[in-house]
Amino acid sequence: MSIVTATDLKNYVYCPMTIYYRNVLCLEERVTEAMTEGAQVDRDEILNFLHLTLKPLEVVRKPYLISRRFLVSGVPDFVLKLRRSWSPLDVKDSYGERRDHRAQVLLYSFLLEESGKSVKQGLIYYVRGKKLFKVPYGEEERREVLLLLTGLRRVLKGELPRVRQPVRKCINCGFFNYCKPKLEGVAYVR
Ligand code: SF4
Repeated sequence: MSIVTATDLKNYVYCPMTIYYRNVLCLEERVTEAMTEGAQVDRDEILNFLHLTLKPLEVVRKPYLISRRFLVSGVPDFVLKLRRSWSPLDVKDSYGERRDHRAQVLLYSFLLEESGKSVKQGLIYYVRGKKLFKVPYGEEERREVLLLLTGLRRVLKGELPRVRQPVRKCINCGFFNYCKPKLEGVAYVR
């Protein structure tokens, strides 16, 4: 079994078909405007903001986290040591809460926990919305991560996922040209 990453899991939660196209069919992903904008975030400015609000005891920038037991890895933007626990923190250039971002941060929490650290929550800072979003992490979320990883590995092995996505999501997807979802409010792929 090969190592899967937090980005794989994020993409899987965004749409499992993206994993199928990228990893199984090896299709090239179109770079969308949204992806380019995401690369322009000033993380130093955000770090200053976080020092003022969360007052971390220690900040680790872009640590490589890996679980050899579960063959999963990830690189969060930051890991913060807080008073009684540790938290991964990811910075996103968007307005607010998204399921795929949450899954990615849950996986970072999982990886930190696997490395022996106490984790109670992950954090996402949404630059455009100027909002800090908390992602609680506990036993239930750990089970959720394991379940998602099982689904992700199934697709990586070649299982064609069943997907129903809103077209507004598909428009910003790098695989839109291959998928050609119907413009009917939902795209149904099988
Ligand atoms: S175009 Fe839509 S259905 Fe196709 S891979 Fe992208 S998000 Fe999924």
